[in-house]
Amino acid sequence: KAAAYLLLYMALDTGHLQPPPFRVQKLEKALEAAIKNGQMHLAFQPVMNLADGRLSGAEVLVRWTHPKLGTVGPAEFIPVAEKYGLMPEIGEWVLKTAIAQISLWVRQGLPPDVCFSVNLSLVQFRYPLLVERIQYLLKTYQLPPHYLGLEITESVAMHNAQTAIQTLRTLREQGIALSIDDFGTGHASLSHLKLFDANTLKIDQSFVRDLTHDSRDRAIVQAIVHMAHALGMRTTAEGVETSAQLDLLKTLGCDRVQGYYFSRPLNTEEFEAFSLPPRRPQPLSV
Ligand code: C2E
Ligand code: MG
Ligand code: MG
Ligand code: MG
Repeated sequence: KAAAYLLLYMALDTGHLQPPPFRVQKLEKALEAAIKNGQMHLAFQPVMNLADGRLSGAEVLVRWTHPKLGTVGPAEFIPVAEKYGLMPEIGEWVLKTAIAQISLWVRQGLPPDVCFSVNLSLVQFRYPLLVERIQYLLKTYQLPPHYLGLEITESVAMHNAQTAIQTLRTLREQGIALSIDDFGTGHASLSHLKLFDANTLKIDQSFVRDLTHDSRDRAIVQAIVHMAHALGMRTTAEGVETSAQLDLLKTLGCDRVQGYYFSRPLNTEEFEAFSLPPRRPQPLSV
């Protein structure tokens, strides 16, 4: 029965289904040891400027490979981590590892206009010392704040909107860029959007998927782009997979794109090959 349940579960879209209880239990136990045992790593997915086709930045995405369970996607394990109080530790690891890595890349010649965005979960965003913690990490790793961006979903921002507005304002004053993630699928009201003061709206991939053959999606994307620009924000389209989608997004005035068409999320070495100037050959030491 358990095997049948698991098969059914795997056949369906994990993003919209609760994992079965035995799976959650297994994940929780395994997650507790994951960081300590070095099972987490980061992936970096390039974000491209539509105007000039250049690299604009990257989204930092956490990856987990367990020796027995295999690769478990963040859409599955992050809700489990949140539920069992493991998210502060994972979130801290992501932030610290990302900042250390970006700082290294800056010293290796990363262009100054490239910005990396890190996803924040609800628990992380509500942590009262979040701003201080980020400041501390930036200082420790000597990373100028404009290299760092943060992403939160509408639902996270709306959880306690008054506090969120304050936190977002403070972060922006530090020079950190802010994106509203999966825009159009959550619960933000336009009256709050006005106050969030974000730099970027990330257009959810559900609007991009059928863009070429669904005029309603085109209308929605067009409206999001117009509104964002009128409010002084940029737009990034998520999940761009084809040149037809890319052409349409360009026509609709979208600023940036992210998706498999340009690149999948890359590991450290792959991202270096994608973004850093070629290394000078090392002189031979005799
Ligand atoms: P997200 O922030 O909306 O991230 C974009 C997701 O879309 C990523 O899935 C990415 O791999 C995927 N994607 C990118 N391009 C394409 C494409 O062209 N087609 C399709 N079909 N998918 C594409 P991923 O890495 O599985 O992450 C899923 C979600 O998990 C993220 O959605 C984010 O909400 C969360 N997440 C990932 N890393 C972290 C993290 O470090 N901290 C927190 N709190 N959440 C994270
Ligand atoms: Mg994101
Ligand atoms: Mg997103
Ligand atoms: Mg998304």
